[in-house]
Amino acid sequence: SVIKDENIQVQTKAVVKEVNGKFKGFNVKIESTGSSKKPVEIDLKASAIIVATGYHLFDAEKMPQFYYGKHGNVLTGLDFEEMFKDNILNQKPLFRPSDKGKLTSVVFILCVGSRDEKYQVNCCRVGCLNALKQAYELKQLHGEEIDVYICYNDIRAAGKEEEELYRRTREAGVLFIKGLPSEIKPLSENQLNIEVFDLSTYKLLSITADLLVLETALSPNTDLKDKLNLPLGEDGFYREVDIKFNTIETPIKGVFLAGTSQGPKTISETIEHASFAALEAATLISRKTNR
Ligand SMILES: Cc1cc2nc3c(=O)[nH]c(=O)nc-3n(C[C@H](O)[C@H](O)[C@H](O)COP(=O)(O)OP(=O)(O)OC[C@H]3O[C@@H](n4cnc5c(N)ncnc54)[C@H](O)[C@@H]3O)c2cc1C
Ligand code: SF4
Repeated sequence: SVIKDENIQVQTKAVVKEVNGKFKGFNVKIESTGSSKKPVEIDLKASAIIVATGYHLFDAEKMPQFYYGKHGNVLTGLDFEEMFKDNILNQKPLFRPSDKGKLTSVVFILCVGSRDEKYQVNCCRVGCLNALKQAYELKQLHGEEIDVYICYNDIRAAGKEEEELYRRTREAGVLFIKGLPSEIKPLSENQLNIEVFDLSTYKLLSITADLLVLETALSPNTDLKDKLNLPLGEDGFYREVDIKFNTIETPIKGVFLAGTSQGPKTISETIEHASFAALEAATLISRKTNR
């Protein structure tokens, strides 16, 4: 693993305190509490820097219409994953969070905070995939005893095998509603009512749900913006030199972007992007002449 590799030094629980210098001569001061109780300051010399600090999860409480943080049965996709991972792994029924009661109706809502001028303009790239996977798992575990709905604008699941997941989810009986809710109202501590106009049938639907799952946006993590003097793009993520041809280099020579620090990505896209970043950095360092 990376930690065991003698050519790689890993500092866990580390915070970047200061960065100065330039390409082939960066000085990075970090504070680490990885191996001791007291924080230790470490000075590192670096020829290049790759920023792989990822994303922040969108705070769904910014959109009060979804009752996240106010109603016990409204979760994000990540909460769902964390709350139910053991149940899914061990094939045990899922439960209603508020009272551990039986789940009979679950509604997934896509694009929460994404593709929205007010919050994140871009697509989160993973919300559809996550909802398809979670909705399919619910149907596999509960069969006809549960109604599972996905409210969507578009389903964006174009990666390898993702169309197959979409087909399987439909065949499992998950109901797809083309439209996002116009109104959500708590009915009790255990249930909510969701009104949504379905554009494919032209009908206003009213659904009583035991659980609402919000597939939230990936928001930028720009904590290193000032320390590295990095510009941001219109989407709020670190800005690359060229959106079409070079999403790895930044305007600061020797500072590269990897993964979702540059914009929302799936895991495989992140790995591919990060591999390119490592290759680009190594190539630039090993070049004899400065560009
Ligand atoms: C609910 C949900 C479901 C998802 N489901 C899927 C899925 O099914 N399939 C899929 O392909 N993708 C999925 N994703 C996306 C996946 O999480 C990302 O593609 C992946 O995590 C991106 O990796 P990353 O390394 O860019 O960022 P991250 O995973 O965010 O890693 C960044 C790391 O940097 C660290 N860090 C941040 N700031 C600093 C700092 N200043 N100093 C030091 N360290 C720092 C963080 O602690 C973190 O460890 C999902 C995401 C969410 C939110
Ligand atoms: S991946 Fe799906 S849920 Fe996420 S913003 Fe794009 S369309 Fe919406």
